[in-house]
Amino acid sequence: MTLPYKARLNEQTFLNLPGFNGGGAYVYAFVEDTNERGLGVGPLCEPDCTCGWKDNFEPRLELSISDGDDVVNLGFAIESDGYRENSLHKLDTLIAALRVFRAALMEEFEPYDRRSRELFELEGGCQDEPPDRGCRRAASIS
Ligand SMILES: [Zn+2]
Repeated sequence: MTLPYKARLNEQTFLNLPGFNGGGAYVYAFVEDTNERGLGVGPLCEPDCTCGWKDNFEPRLELSISDGDDVVNLGFAIESDGYRENSLHKLDTLIAALRVFRAALMEEFEPYDRRSRELFELEGGCQDEPPDRGCRRAASIS
């Protein structure tokens, strides 16, 4: 017997805009909604056991990040104050890392563009094209 998981959150979001490489990259978030479920059977019982042994259970929690090939699954637990604190800390740390990464990435726009302008001038106004189109030439050594 399989338990039907009722979802509080069940969302897979692709990370790249359509047409960009790595179109298979995604983040998947699942949080089971156990609001209407009672206690589960004992940890050593079969799902339809009638021995009366009851136990609490954790909701199914899943946060996965994929680059299209590999998947990283982050684990979360809510069974104690310590586990809850750690789960929230893990999420807050991830959110903070993403925010500072985003800001640092944006700060690299200008230096990259400056170098592109420099290259553009060096190549005599040739448009930036893939190398196989033959536009680039080696900079002269002076
Ligand atoms: Zn049992």
